[in-house]
Amino acid sequence: MQNNPHTTLITPDAPLAASTHGGRAKCLQRLVRLDMPVPRTVALSFDAVHRIAADELPDIVAIVGQFEPDTLLCVRPSSEDPDWGGPGAVLNVGMNDARYAEFCDTLGQDAAAALYLRFVQSYSFHVARLDPDMFDGVAGDGAQGLRETLHAYEAETEERFPQDPAAQLAAVLRSMARAWEGTSARLLRQAKGAPADAGLGLVVQEMIPGLGQGECGSGVLQLVDQETGKPQITGRYLSQSQGRDALGAGTEALFLDKDKRGPSLAEAAPEAFADLKDHAALMRHKLREEMQVEFVIGNGRVHILDGVRVSRSSRAAVRIAVQLARDGIITPQEAVMRVDPHAVTELLHRQVAPDAVRDVLATGIGASPGAATGRIVFTSAEAQSSAARGEASILVRRETSPEDIRGMHAAAGVLTERGGITSHAAVIGRGLGLPCIVGASALRFVTGKRQLIAPDGRVLRAGDTITIDGGNGEVLAGEPATIEAALDDAFQTLMGWADEARDIGIRANADSPADAQTARNFDAQGIGLCRTEHMFFDPGRMTVMREMIFAQTSAGRAAVLERLLPMQRDDFVQLFRIMQGQPVCIRLFDPPLHEFLPNTKSGQRELAEALNLPVSDVVRRIEAMEEYNPMLGLRGVRLGVTVPEIYDMQARAIFEATLRASEDGEPVVPEIMIPLVSARREVELVKRRVDAVAAAVRAEKGKTFDFRLGVMVETPRACLRAAEFAPDTSFLSFGTNDLTQMTYGLSRDDAGRFMSDYVQQHVFPEDPFHVLDTDGVGELVQLGAARGRASNPGITLSICGEHGGNPESIAFCRTAGFDYVSCSPFRVPVARLAAAQLAI
Ligand code: PEP
Ligand code: MG
Repeated sequence: MQNNPHTTLITPDAPLAASTHGGRAKCLQRLVRLDMPVPRTVALSFDAVHRIAADELPDIVAIVGQFEPDTLLCVRPSSEDPDWGGPGAVLNVGMNDARYAEFCDTLGQDAAAALYLRFVQSYSFHVARLDPDMFDGVAGDGAQGLRETLHAYEAETEERFPQDPAAQLAAVLRSMARAWEGTSARLLRQAKGAPADAGLGLVVQEMIPGLGQGECGSGVLQLVDQETGKPQITGRYLSQSQGRDALGAGTEALFLDKDKRGPSLAEAAPEAFADLKDHAALMRHKLREEMQVEFVIGNGRVHILDGVRVSRSSRAAVRIAVQLARDGIITPQEAVMRVDPHAVTELLHRQVAPDAVRDVLATGIGASPGAATGRIVFTSAEAQSSAARGEASILVRRETSPEDIRGMHAAAGVLTERGGITSHAAVIGRGLGLPCIVGASALRFVTGKRQLIAPDGRVLRAGDTITIDGGNGEVLAGEPATIEAALDDAFQTLMGWADEARDIGIRANADSPADAQTARNFDAQGIGLCRTEHMFFDPGRMTVMREMIFAQTSAGRAAVLERLLPMQRDDFVQLFRIMQGQPVCIRLFDPPLHEFLPNTKSGQRELAEALNLPVSDVVRRIEAMEEYNPMLGLRGVRLGVTVPEIYDMQARAIFEATLRASEDGEPVVPEIMIPLVSARREVELVKRRVDAVAAAVRAEKGKTFDFRLGVMVETPRACLRAAEFAPDTSFLSFGTNDLTQMTYGLSRDDAGRFMSDYVQQHVFPEDPFHVLDTDGVGELVQLGAARGRASNPGITLSICGEHGGNPESIAFCRTAGFDYVSCSPFRVPVARLAAAQLAI
């Protein structure tokens, strides 16, 4: 055979590439270059295989001629990316009656029959496409089984089993090529990310039987544990076996080492075992990756069939990458590039164990990652009493409101029927690091009867145990095994390397001292958004906030604000101290009214008591304040403009806290952010009053301080008119949650109901509340950034919507020249890694 670019004998310098012949062919060539004992192999290119599918066969006799006469062959798939799969390997091509007779003499009858039987069976299923049931009546494996199988084949096809090795090979190649082009195989690989026209290469390899005299068998070996990533020789080996027999369920596979069921490979063939370990170490070193070695032992000698990247859990991925870099095999930057930022999320939280059985009741939107198991409770009060008894609970609500905050603090996880990725439950869940699923409308919430009904009719009652997986949105029955978070030494090392490479700042959205502490623990470079109204979600404080909203006279309001001032000041002092000189951006109040008005009888009673009013009065006033569209109502700066004393109080609290925190450390320079701006005049009005409060505090205390005032750009109009107010401000922070809501005209709280339909039908490529819509919302962001910067070149630009923690959205912000992104504290590590990968 002339080596042509499409049918190539694998030699150290044959012209081969993964993009033309597939990953397996390329890897085998690397192993050949490393002088490993790889059986002789011919690689067929994507193009050759494509033609085979169309019945244009290459010169088969020439391929067979590449091997010693009478050699058995196997054919294996070689797709560009091994994860895209491919048709199963066909072993022992070339077996026929004549070779069977020879093998009976050389290997013994049992081994000869096993070789032939295996080929006849796979030929029947994969090539002749016979019904697998047709061999049901066949007795066993040996010579008798073989005879019956051949007989069954011939009865079914009315032909003798093909005896010509070249004809067998041609038929096998054709069937594998066609299997790849079939619709189901195409859909399957596309689901794994393969392009529609992904090619398949095939390798034709000399078969080392794994059966016969002396120590023979097959197996796999790797040097690390794929769950933990720790060094550990693991694998499977089965004497007198072929292909992946050693991995099959129910086989008596012997572990490589210290197996209790019989002699291990290390004992049976110590030299082969030592060779294998050396080969694996060499592969790790030269291929710069942890590899699983696929091998066959023939009469005590090792043959290497393939090297495959060890599949691994997220935590193992981190440890493996870091260890390869520590061993000098890859650079720290390469280690950073090798870990998927999305996978880091898994490390920060408890997870359902990868091998646990998942009894899925229904799937909603995974809004805050991590696994939580607990008994179902339907109210916050029950969650609190469960916590008091030391019992974990899952708080199940149609949707959550601020009244549920206490329950959320007490519960192990939250499950809601309604809501999307930026709904109340989702935002709070992420802030608390509490696993949360929202929009689980596939479950029927019969809260009146305290029941949940799964789509398959199973009824779950209060007290029943469920598990939620906030990563993928699955609600699971019972208590599957879980594994703990893994913020180990390897993780910290990787993050350190990421920070060295990164060129965009990462801050955290943090509303409480606990959040701020988490942010610091994850090495955030400051707080990019402190939602001050969230500071009143805390148990015991909500009523004061409500009193403020309800106050009708200015004397009444002044009295509440006087109580609020010290609370706010103390909070800010704590935040400044925890952040130790890192910037802290405090957003003035932005309470959408529906999130703050009591909607339960007990909440209304509590407020009535605090206000010293009959409940009926409170209910009437709640009704009077109710808005049709609270998200577009009296929120943000609109509250600041219409009731300016509220922002005055906040500004004072910030400045007094600034002075206090500066007493025992570096001078603090707070950032004050005005939410929901849509007009220049709003900024002017607030700025004037904030400046006046600053002057008053400086005069009263006889001390000076600096601060920075900025605007939160979260309405389309603010993007369009950014040039007008940028000169009055130090920074613009894009609130892409509201900006997405308003650009699409899509309610943050209701979109969850139909979002999956929209994504499934490709109306939206992704949930735009999750991944920034760079075309539409992104265009507004770019406009706002460019216009703001044009009128104030020194202005700081950032994003603080939930998108701030999303790798794709971070890429957009970096390209747009932003100074930093800000995201939930638990997403900070994801953002640090994603940002580093963009810079490398
Ligand atoms: C936003 O709208 O993007 C934002 C960060 O603010 P909030 O989620 O509090 O409305
Ligand atoms: Mg907002």
